[in-house]
Amino acid sequence: MLGGQHSPLAQVGTEIVDEHPPHYILHPGLSSKAVRLHYWQHRFGLEPPAAVRLYNTLTRVKEELHPVSAGNVSMYSCGPTVYRYVHIGNLRTFMIPDLLCRTLEYLGHRTRQVMNITDVGHLTDDTFDRGEDKMLVSARLEKKSPEEIAAFYTQAFREDAATLNIRPAAEYPRASHYIPQMIELTTKLIEKGHAYEVDGTVYYDIASFPAYGRLSGNSTDKLLAGVRGEVDPRKRHPGDFTLWKAAGEHRLQVWPSPWGPGFPGWHIECSAMSMSLLGDRFDVHSGGADNIFPHHEAEIAQSEGVTGHRVVSCWMHGGLLLLAGSRMAKSAGNFFRIRELEERGFDPLAFRYLALQAKYRTKLNFSTDRLAGADRALRNIREHLIEWTRAGDVAAGEGTDDADLEKRFRSAIADDLDLPEAMALVSELTRSKVAPGVKARLLRSWDRVLGLDLERPEPRRALPPGAAEVLAAREKARAAKDFARSDQLRDELASLGIAVIDTPEGQRWRVQAVRQGSK
Ligand code: AMP
Ligand code: ZN
Repeated sequence: MLGGQHSPLAQVGTEIVDEHPPHYILHPGLSSKAVRLHYWQHRFGLEPPAAVRLYNTLTRVKEELHPVSAGNVSMYSCGPTVYRYVHIGNLRTFMIPDLLCRTLEYLGHRTRQVMNITDVGHLTDDTFDRGEDKMLVSARLEKKSPEEIAAFYTQAFREDAATLNIRPAAEYPRASHYIPQMIELTTKLIEKGHAYEVDGTVYYDIASFPAYGRLSGNSTDKLLAGVRGEVDPRKRHPGDFTLWKAAGEHRLQVWPSPWGPGFPGWHIECSAMSMSLLGDRFDVHSGGADNIFPHHEAEIAQSEGVTGHRVVSCWMHGGLLLLAGSRMAKSAGNFFRIRELEERGFDPLAFRYLALQAKYRTKLNFSTDRLAGADRALRNIREHLIEWTRAGDVAAGEGTDDADLEKRFRSAIADDLDLPEAMALVSELTRSKVAPGVKARLLRSWDRVLGLDLERPEPRRALPPGAAEVLAAREKARAAKDFARSDQLRDELASLGIAVIDTPEGQRWRVQAVRQGSK
């Protein structure tokens, strides 16, 4: 197993520890499920973790997850390049490992999640290894050092993720701390005939790795045909990618190496960090669909080129978030930050609610209208939970079965994180005749997976300017029984985003999410 943060990558070759105690002898006629059950009961006095099936981009089918170490799932997720704020598209992708960890823990597994921070070497044009390092572009524009830029946007990312109730990963390795490991991997790739150096730049030779293209479904021929425009003449094959780039004019973020001063390519970072922290066989690797090619294709070629065996068991990729039909992208500038949505009066967790309505693998078109719908639905659930908790364990109606609902919830989440189905069960629970106290208990328990923070006291939103006066005028109109005027003022309040309800104790009001034009 590879060691801690700064350990070399030399000791590759993880042993799969035999988890079965030697004195534990199984009956030869038992099924594998029965064996697992016996083992967990015997060893821990526990129910075994429930089986989970995940769609594997590599094999293009759903597969049952068999962790390298039984009951402990290790996962690596591509994190942000910290040169700008993260947008809600990035956050949708970062929700995947969060939802997977929550699901696995709910079903009895232990998890260890690592998410990297790319603070060096992500070129503005990775496909062709051209352009400037994104970190350096921002450092220049903001007149700060790359380290200051990285520290600022890393902190902003952590805060934005927390706003969306994304639980922190166990570790956030930073690429700039793993340069020796990247140099070591690159050296090994040269030794094994997978890479070559020209003028201080090291390229991966894709022709040396026959499986290159398997993840993305690109054949080397197709890749060749797809390369357009100017090709780096030093490459043996136009599809070869950079492992180490000669510094050239660069003065910042440059390290010494056996090939002279330079900096790493983006793809080698993830091979180095993932294997340093999780070993050379781990369970799940996640990212957005745009990471499949070239980033993860390259990672497989690098990691397997060095180890000679499969490193990642399951590749998970999230569908992209679109805005008006186009991919939301930092570089294109067509994005929303979670803070902006909050400033517009939405509950930030309404975005989480919206994301849960779609399968994580499908594309999702974002609009503020859809978000407003999610905001209302989330508010309703919060209100239901308060009511049910107050009502307590009043007798259930006939024919209701909360155990059945729980079973269906578990099988939905275990089926490749079918959260739309889980959300449908929330609606079914709401309409069901299950006793209110039981409903409350079930929903609170499900929220450990959904992460909607349903018990959070709702923040009272500030009244927009002028609204207090209109509310006071309406109170007066009602006292004077001038109902026509009172209705007219209700409409006026609605246009300010305020809902009023008349109760025997007087009018009550609530600031709703402001409906913006669909963007
Ligand atoms: P970046 O900071 O650009 O490297 O992106 C961080 C993560 O966000 C990567 O896993 C990307 O795949 C993912 N990502 C980028 N854009 C989107 C989008 N529009 N929708 C969903 N995920 C995205
Ligand atoms: Zn990565």
